[in-house]
Amino acid sequence: MTADHRAGRLERVRAALAERDTDALLLGPSADYRWLLGYEPPGLERLTMLVVSAAGDDHLVVPALEAPLAIEHLGDLGVKVLAWQETEDPIALVVGALAAAGSASQSRLAVGDHLFATFLLRLQAAMPSARYTIGSVVTGPLRRIKDQAEIDALARAGAAIDAVVDRLGEWVVPGRAERDVAADLDVAIRAAGHEQTNFTIVGSGPNGASPHHIAGHRVIQPGDAVVIDIGGRVDGYCSDTTRTLVVGEPPEGFAELYEVLRTAQAAGCDAVRPGVTAASVDAACRDIITEAGYGEYFIHRTGHGIGLEEHEDPYIVAGNDEPLSPGMAFSVEPGIYLPGRHGARIEDIVVCTEDGGRRLNTTSRELRVVG
Ligand code: ZN
Ligand code: ZN
Ligand code: ZN
Repeated sequence: MTADHRAGRLERVRAALAERDTDALLLGPSADYRWLLGYEPPGLERLTMLVVSAAGDDHLVVPALEAPLAIEHLGDLGVKVLAWQETEDPIALVVGALAAAGSASQSRLAVGDHLFATFLLRLQAAMPSARYTIGSVVTGPLRRIKDQAEIDALARAGAAIDAVVDRLGEWVVPGRAERDVAADLDVAIRAAGHEQTNFTIVGSGPNGASPHHIAGHRVIQPGDAVVIDIGGRVDGYCSDTTRTLVVGEPPEGFAELYEVLRTAQAAGCDAVRPGVTAASVDAACRDIITEAGYGEYFIHRTGHGIGLEEHEDPYIVAGNDEPLSPGMAFSVEPGIYLPGRHGARIEDIVVCTEDGGRRLNTTSRELRVVG
């Protein structure tokens, strides 16, 4: 991220603060922080807090031992670094920074959604007359429209995770435990260009009916359906894709179920274009699954926005009547889960463009037979 890029984002936050009659945005280490400053310091028990003020006077309160890290990354961005020593009260520095930026004790403050409660409670004790709101009301509308550099990063992440999906047949074989497959996936995800693995879901047989199953000791059997949902991070941006495989002959009724799912997932992706609501993309998937009689087994929303966070705005869910706009990126990931038997899910990341949805995951969605 260039200095101009970061200065531009700080300016946009300032404008959003002014629009909401809010004095400052207070952020701890988080995706919001990274989106603004281009790096994310450790989120530990020592307080790190970025104070972006509507008035245009920005401060970063950091533990003294992390001041070098902050200075290295901030460069000549005009954010004043206030380092606190181990015996000092960092909250007093935050209050001072707000005062320096012209905010009085009755100020209106937007506080990062993921700020530790311990810091917010201390801040509230120090500024009891201030009014507090969540930071995402300011940052959410900005972050959910990705710029070209962000879409390029998501596309690189998508290509990297697809390279792992292409090799699933090497690891998903009868006789191997889910956790051993997950360990191989972790190595492969990083080898494919991710700086870290975010998660490796391997749900075999009945475990596939639990959408967020944690890979365990179950040994993959011939005749299993296996749900593989994997993701990592490339230049900070997340990948996330799911494919469902069968080991040898599919179980009874599975091929039919999978065909319904595949049709539904394609309909969801096809429904993406500017101006349609997030809810209508959910409905495009869900109606097909419901009409086929599996409605009660599709137990989650159709998708989630993705970017610096694995799950962020916009959520593709009934009731979200926000219209899609070019630059939004989100998953389309319907699933059908039959308790005690098996599950199936297909997930692609889709970017809304002027011409419709662009999938960032392009591996085959046909039912793949392995083993
Ligand atoms: Zn999930
Ligand atoms: Zn996923
Ligand atoms: Zn997902």
